[in-house]
Amino acid sequence: LGRKLNAALSSLSRAPVVDEKVLEALLKEICAALLESDVNVKLVSQLRQKVKAKAKAHFESGADRGKEANRKNVVQKTIFDELVHLVDPGVEPYKPKKGHPNVIMAVGLQGNGKTTTCTKLAVYYQKRGFKSCIVCADTFRAGAFDQTRQSATKAKVAYFGSYTETDPVAIAAQGVSKFKKERFEVIIVDTSGRHKQESELFEEMVQIGQAVKPDMTVLVLDASIGQAAEAQSRAFKESADFGAIIVTKMDGHAKGGGAISAVAATQTPIIFLGVGEHLTDLDRFSPQPFISKLLGMGDVQGLMEHMHDLANANPEKQKEMAKKLEEGKLSIRDWREQIQNVMNMGPISKIASMIPGLPQDILQGSDEEGSLRMKRMIYITDSMSAVELDSDGSCFLITAKDGKPEGLTWRVARVARGSGTSVREVEELLCQYRMMANMAKQAGGKNGWMQTMQKMQ
Ligand code: GDP
Ligand code: MG
Repeated sequence: LGRKLNAALSSLSRAPVVDEKVLEALLKEICAALLESDVNVKLVSQLRQKVKAKAKAHFESGADRGKEANRKNVVQKTIFDELVHLVDPGVEPYKPKKGHPNVIMAVGLQGNGKTTTCTKLAVYYQKRGFKSCIVCADTFRAGAFDQTRQSATKAKVAYFGSYTETDPVAIAAQGVSKFKKERFEVIIVDTSGRHKQESELFEEMVQIGQAVKPDMTVLVLDASIGQAAEAQSRAFKESADFGAIIVTKMDGHAKGGGAISAVAATQTPIIFLGVGEHLTDLDRFSPQPFISKLLGMGDVQGLMEHMHDLANANPEKQKEMAKKLEEGKLSIRDWREQIQNVMNMGPISKIASMIPGLPQDILQGSDEEGSLRMKRMIYITDSMSAVELDSDGSCFLITAKDGKPEGLTWRVARVARGSGTSVREVEELLCQYRMMANMAKQAGGKNGWMQTMQKMQ
């Protein structure tokens, strides 16, 4: 989906004029990509109407006569906003509070990833200083408690369950009350699922809910659910009034669009994405960065969180970087450091998409190919002088009297030669850096992601 949307938007930036015809063609491409990813038909047609109406109103206002770039920006921003709107119901999810027994109940059909996600959540909160534990209230599936026991043990989180008790409501109540007494701060209740939506399951959810009074109920949805997401999420909403959604298996080939439809159908926010089978494969979700990433615009927030988690080795440096990013003052040198960090962080395909301005094709092919491309970027910056590295790249540009960039200085050719690359590659790198710097500036603004992220922590 990301690649297709990205391609559609780059064709917009190449179009010499933006008129209704170009817009129509662009919308057609975008809507086709969304439909193909299983986003609900109604939602797609709403998006189309809204973008069209907004763009048309803007065209007719004549506000940007003669300024084509402005027009492109408006169209791009309108599309971006409407895509964000798809995954943002505008509702704040519950946030666990320190020193309080926060009860989180997970519901969803069997196989959607509840048990896995419960452990991931416990690990997530434990890492952030919450004393966390899991209660296994699944008495339906044989071996459910064993699964919880194994994964909780691996994750080093406390757990509760029973091999003999067959009443899930009783287990849930016992577990939660035990952990509350022991002053646990995040108590996660894993429930059973069924293969399909059945009244027994919903009845059980109602009863467990009444017994443990969760602060937040989370619907766990498999990304591959497709168009069934709407009916399934509505059905669960009636019996287990969930306040958040976690979409699992986003790492697979699933298209994820169905899960997006669940957000719209129930007006409930997504809070995390499951992105693998490991305990740490849980990404925090927020609408704006998610869409930026989808459009190949990077995910500054996700990147910062990742670096936060992985680069604890150097907290001072970390702080400095965050500050620079926030102030929009990231130099080429800082950017290079980010790329190097990514290279040290393991599978490139997973993290590269978070770096704004990295070309999408870095993700194509194998991880080795991706890291080779990144290495070339490092070679290029290695050939720059210290002054150039610490700059914002403008020293490579020749500016005309009116301040518009007119060309590149001879240094670009020199850097290309020094790094064994080409002028085009250097030019591309500078272009990517600028894109990243612009994104970072946006991210640092008053309502930017950096601020949102800091509020979240
Ligand atoms: P439950 O029946 O809802 O409790 O689902 P489980 O937690 O037992 O998960 C079912 C299967 O999905 C297991 O094989 C998990 O390893 C797998 N799974 C869960 N979350 C993810 C994810 O985010 N990515 C991938 N690739 N697999 C997942
Ligand atoms: Mg389970």
